[in-house]
Amino acid sequence: MVRDGDQLIIGLPDAVRATLARLAEAGHDAALVGGSVRDLVSGTLPQDWDVATAAPPERVAQLFPGSTWTNRFGTVTVHVDGGPDVQVTTFRFEGPYLDGRRPASVAWGQSLDEDLARRDFTVNAIAWRPMDLARGEGVLVDPHGGIADLQHGVLRAVGDPEARFGEDALRMVRAARFASRLGLDIDAATARAIRAHAAAAAELSGERIRDELLRMLEDAARPPSAAFELLERLGLLEVLLPELAALRGVPQSKALAGDALDHSLRTADALPPDRPLLRLAGLLHDVGKATTLADGHFIGHEVEGARLAEAAGERLRLSRAELGWLVRLVRHHMFAYTPDWTDAAVRRFIRRVGVDLLDDLFALRVADNAASGVPDPHAAGLDELRSRIEAVIADSPLTQGQLAVDGRDLTAEVGLAPGPLVGELLRRLLEAVLDEPSLNRREPLLALAAQWAAEAGAGAHHADARAQAGEAVADGAAATIGDPGAVPSRPRSPAQKEESPPS
Ligand code: ATP
Ligand code: MG
Repeated sequence: MVRDGDQLIIGLPDAVRATLARLAEAGHDAALVGGSVRDLVSGTLPQDWDVATAAPPERVAQLFPGSTWTNRFGTVTVHVDGGPDVQVTTFRFEGPYLDGRRPASVAWGQSLDEDLARRDFTVNAIAWRPMDLARGEGVLVDPHGGIADLQHGVLRAVGDPEARFGEDALRMVRAARFASRLGLDIDAATARAIRAHAAAAAELSGERIRDELLRMLEDAARPPSAAFELLERLGLLEVLLPELAALRGVPQSKALAGDALDHSLRTADALPPDRPLLRLAGLLHDVGKATTLADGHFIGHEVEGARLAEAAGERLRLSRAELGWLVRLVRHHMFAYTPDWTDAAVRRFIRRVGVDLLDDLFALRVADNAASGVPDPHAAGLDELRSRIEAVIADSPLTQGQLAVDGRDLTAEVGLAPGPLVGELLRRLLEAVLDEPSLNRREPLLALAAQWAAEAGAGAHHADARAQAGEAVADGAAATIGDPGAVPSRPRSPAQKEESPPS
C-alpha cells in the first residue's frame, strides 16, 4: 500500500490530464483531491474528478472557455469533449462558522495543505500532485493519514471532530454515507462527537439534507438500509426523518421478523438504486403506522402516512411535482385487488390512482411484498391486475381528452355558456363512460349532457342570451349539479372512498 510522499502512476483520462496541464502551464499549483484520489488509492475507478488549485475561480473560468462556474464556493466545472467533467475548486481557507451551516466567510487559500485541512474526513483529504503529466506520474500528499485509515477501514474526521461537526453539521450526515458506501467503521472519537452534536443537524437546510439522503439512496453497491441504520445509531435519523425513526418498535405481523422500521428499510433496499426518489417513497410508505396502530391494525395509515410524507418532502424541499408524486404513492399503496373486480372497477382504480403513477405503484408493491417476506412478490393477483389494466387502457377512454365530446361541443350543441358547468359536465360524462365505455359516442353523450344541464336549469339558451347570462348561470348551476362521485386527480382527503387494505 502506498504512503504519504510516495509516487503513484495514474492512468488519467485525457480530460483530467489536459485540465491539470493547462493550470500548470499557466503557473498555478493544482492537484487531484477528494473522492477521486480516495477511489484511486483504494483501487476503484473514480466517478467524478476533482481538482484543487491556487488559481482563483475567475482565473479558472478564463483558462477554460465554456466552463461553468457552479457555486459560490468557487467550483468551476470544466467540460471537455468526450471526457468526464472535471470540477476545479480553488484552495479554500474558511472563516469561522457562526451557525453550523456555512462559513461566515470563504477566502481563497494559498496552499494545498490549507485546503486539505478544511476537508471533512481523512480519507477525503488525500491529494495527488502531478510531477510528469505525460507519464501520469505524481506524488501523494496525505498529511492527515487518510491512506492508513482507508487501509484499516476507518472513517475519521480531519482534526478535532467536535470542532469540525460544530462548523458544519452536514459532515455528520456525510459520515454515515461514506462509512456505509466505503464499508468503513467510524472512529470512536468521531462517532462520539456525532452523537454529541446530532441535534444540530436540525438546523441544516432541507436541500443539503435531501442531496445527502438521495446520494445514500442511489448507492448501487450497498443497500441503503446500511446507511440509514447507521444514521439511526448515530442519533441522526430522529433529527432528519423523525417520522421514519418513530417506526422503531412498532410491531408488525409479517412473515419476516422485525418492526415497521426494519420493514421500511427493507422496502427501500428492494427498489432499484437508479430510482433514489422511489426508494425514498419506499422508506416513507408506512410512516403512518406509528400513530395509527390500534388493536393490531393500522386503519387509515396510508392517509396519515401521505400527510406525514408530504411534511417530510416539504422539509426536504422536494419539487412540487416530486411531492405530489410521493404523496400519491403513499396514499394509494394499500390497494387490494381481487379477481372479482369488474372492468368498471379497474377503470376507476386507474382513474383514482392516475395512469402516470401505475408503474411506480406496482414497483412499490412488489418491493413492499418482498420486504414483508411474501414468497412470490407478484402474488395477490398483481400480474393479473397489470394485464387487465393494460387491456382497459388499450380499449376504453380514461381521461376527459378521450371523450367523444369536448367543451366546445357542449357550448355549441347543448347551448351552455362557457364556464364551470361545462367542466363539471365533462367530469360527469367521464364517470359515466368509465362505468360504460360503449357510451363514448357523440350522440348519447350530448343527450346526457343536455339532460343534466336541463336538470340543473342551465343550457338550451340562444347564443346571445348565453353571452348575457354568462358566468352567473354557470356558477349557480355548478353549485347544484356537483357530482359527489367525482374523484380529484390527486386524492389526499380521508373522506374519500378507499380500497380495503390487504389482510
Ligand atoms: P462522491 O464519490 O460521493 O462524490 P466525494 O468525496 O467526491 O464522494 P463530494 O461530496 O463530491 O464527495 O465532495 C468532494 C470533496 O469535497 C470531498 O471528498 C471532501 O474532501 C470535500 N467536502 C465536500 N463537502 C464537504 C464538507 N461539508 N465539509 C468538508 N469537506 C467537504
Ligand atoms: Mg464527488
